Amino acid sequence: MAVKGFNPFEMAQKQFDTVADLLELDQPTRDLLRQPLREYHFNIPVRMDDGSVRVFRGFRCQHNDARGPCKGGIRFHPQETIDTVRALSMWMTWKCAVVDIPLGGGKGGVVCDPHDLSPREQERLCRGWVRAIAQDVGPLRDVPAPDVMTNPQHMLWMLDEFEAIYGAKYPGFITGKPVGMGGSLGRTEATGYGLVFTLREALREMGNQCENTVTAVQGFGNVAQYAIKLIGRFGGKVTCVSCWDQVDRTSYTYRKKTGINLDELLTITDRFGGIDKAKAEALEYERLPGDAWIEQDVDILIPAALENQINAETVKKIKPRVKIIAEGANGPTTPEADAVIKERGIFVVPDFLANAGGVTCSYFEQVQGNQNYFWPKEEVLNKLDEKMTAAFLAVSELARSKKLFMRDAAYVIAVSRVANACRDRGWV
Ligand code: GLU
Repeated sequence: MAVKGFNPFEMAQKQFDTVADLLELDQPTRDLLRQPLREYHFNIPVRMDDGSVRVFRGFRCQHNDARGPCKGGIRFHPQETIDTVRALSMWMTWKCAVVDIPLGGGKGGVVCDPHDLSPREQERLCRGWVRAIAQDVGPLRDVPAPDVMTNPQHMLWMLDEFEAIYGAKYPGFITGKPVGMGGSLGRTEATGYGLVFTLREALREMGNQCENTVTAVQGFGNVAQYAIKLIGRFGGKVTCVSCWDQVDRTSYTYRKKTGINLDELLTITDRFGGIDKAKAEALEYERLPGDAWIEQDVDILIPAALENQINAETVKKIKPRVKIIAEGANGPTTPEADAVIKERGIFVVPDFLANAGGVTCSYFEQVQGNQNYFWPKEEVLNKLDEKMTAAFLAVSELARSKKLFMRDAAYVIAVSRVANACRDRGWV
């Protein structure tokens, strides 16, 4: 998102440079991996319901495809920028590599606020995005998926447009499709559940378990909702969530010290994760400022909204009790905040590991689609748990043995895999 003084792409490059030094990567490999292989910028003219035309700006970045076709979501956000999409495409490359699935990294975006668009306008925008990029994506090149403010319905419209252009069925063009239309059971839960699988392992390493913990969550979209659900199933308590208020154009934190009730909150939440203030107050939730989630006296913090939320300023507010930060969002923590977190010894499950459950399940969707045979939900979630746990253990083992910060250990594994793939292909 466009935030003054913060550039997510510079942050992603800074993180990469640190690991490139650690791995002593040669210059051509650094040059290749420091920026996307390809990027596309385009205009999408959309006929609005009132007959007028609005032109939206769209992007797709393909960061790296040495390990397989590019993979990553499409975000709809009013403050989307090309640098955000570049950073996110890079993080997708590391994400697919750290969980060891045969995919590269890509990301797309449209500068728009879907709150202001009717369903028909959203459909035309989705179809327009596909028409603009159809020649450069596809099952064997670059496979989109849902992300911030996009959902399975958007994916289906996009698929339908792609298939109309090519005159055949290409279910492999996109993932995150609705169940019954080529989607996988468990895909909706996958990112939030995957996050909690890694959190469970982190707690286990500390000799603890979810049951004895209290968590504060930032965000109340798909990732946050399912993370909260599984934490609840594991017996843990979540005392607050924060979310964007569309009417006031600001965010609030909703707190109940005895623990929030997910099902109750969901009845007063819109499809973008916005909670109705008046109804929350009637249900006796305290309404605090949007950034209050970070200063809660809890064991675990889960930033599951956007990038740049734990930065040089906000990191100071983290209470001494906090032992784990599990990053549901992409890029929530800046390198400046990381330095403080390292010093304080807070255990971090870094973003591209913690939130890799979504893309892992997208990979399962591809596998099932290729076989044209779909697995029961339990099988999908068990496989997801296996993949996430294995990836977590590989990272934490390396972190322990080489005395590395968890984020650096995850980067070492991911970047080495991608650098090796580039070298083995003879690119560098
Ligand atoms: N948008 C999700 C992410 O950031 C999922 C990407 C995918 O499934 O391709 O990981």
